[in-house]
Amino acid sequence: MPALIDLLRHRLGTLLPAEIAPNERLKLLTPFRHPLLISRHRAGLIVDRVRLFALLFALLTPLWGVIDFVAFPYPLWAQLLALRVLVCLAFFSLLLFYRDREHMADAYLAMFILFAIPTLFYAGSHTLLAHYELADMPAAVAAGYAFLPFVLMAGLALFPLTLLENLLVASILLLAQGLAGYLNWSTLNWPSFVGAFWLLILIAGVTSLACMSQLAYMVALLRRAIRDDLTGIFARNSGEEILQVQWNTSLRNNSALSLAFIDLDHFKQINDRFGHARGDEALRQVCMQIQNCMRSSDSLVRWGGEEFLLIMPDTDMTRARQALERLQASGLGSRPDDTPLTASIGLAERFYDQIDSPHGLLELADQRMYRAKAAGRNRIQAL
Ligand code: GH3
Ligand code: MG
Ligand code: MG
Repeated sequence: MPALIDLLRHRLGTLLPAEIAPNERLKLLTPFRHPLLISRHRAGLIVDRVRLFALLFALLTPLWGVIDFVAFPYPLWAQLLALRVLVCLAFFSLLLFYRDREHMADAYLAMFILFAIPTLFYAGSHTLLAHYELADMPAAVAAGYAFLPFVLMAGLALFPLTLLENLLVASILLLAQGLAGYLNWSTLNWPSFVGAFWLLILIAGVTSLACMSQLAYMVALLRRAIRDDLTGIFARNSGEEILQVQWNTSLRNNSALSLAFIDLDHFKQINDRFGHARGDEALRQVCMQIQNCMRSSDSLVRWGGEEFLLIMPDTDMTRARQALERLQASGLGSRPDDTPLTASIGLAERFYDQIDSPHGLLELADQRMYRAKAAGRNRIQAL
């Protein structure tokens, strides 16, 4: 029996996309604790998909007006057409004017608007159709209006969503559909309605798998793109992005932002005397040491070969200096010959140094690092 459970657990484990690392699995379940860059890219991607969806629907919605015209009496077809034109305009506005794409809140709002438009159309069209006793072909065309929730549920598969987000949206759709059935809005009869409801639940299941596997690919690709292969810390490109984002946040919140430029001392000697592999090992060790010492809100970036940036949001000059002194005291690890590995560190802070751009902050920290080298290495230079 335990063997069977083990087999089951193992086989279930292999159902997850292979690209996702074990420590990333939780990211597929809830949107909490997603790293900054993942949230940003996900928000951007979701807003782009919303606009794509809006384009498709802006083009398709008016087309069905032709069928309405053929099937329905006047003024029903004209009222429905007016509704369709409104919907088309709303989708085009979303496509053209929705620009915010930095935060997950922007993404949620975009999705809300995207889903609210057809939901209002659904309610509006059913209110209009309820005034008519239709039979035969017109009744069949009217029944088509009951399938809009299916389109929305299937459309959800376009987005890289976590399980929790997906369940939330899917249950809202299911609830709305159930309510519509209860209020007798549906243009379907009861048995068809129950069958359709079950189908909607099945689509919701498939959709949530599609959403999560999209998210898994996104997380895995981003990890490769934003991390440095050797050390696993942020690569230079993502470091630039993080610095810009933290700069914007510190402007908005009027909060401190410290930046340390860290260059290892006499690192070339390690390679020359003990070989490149031991040098690589030392670099990994340094990164682990720094990461153990810093706060989770700090970001460590490999800026160049043996040069690192430590971005410290919400940290003023005094506290940043204390943190770096603590790091120095605990050490950066040792060289292959067991002497301590040291670094020269240049430190700058937005308020303290009255800097007005992230580039300026970086430049000043870099200059101070060189001053620390010139003054004899293994020190923190903050002036
Ligand atoms: P200083 O105290 O003046 O900074 O001396 P240094 O030797 O650290 O300075 P320099 O910038 O001249 O040398 C940096 C060296 O870092 C050169 C290069 O061999 C080494 N390095 C850069 N990237 C890597 C890497 O990925 N792996 C290894 N093993 N070494 C690297
Ligand atoms: Mg260097
Ligand atoms: Mg160096």
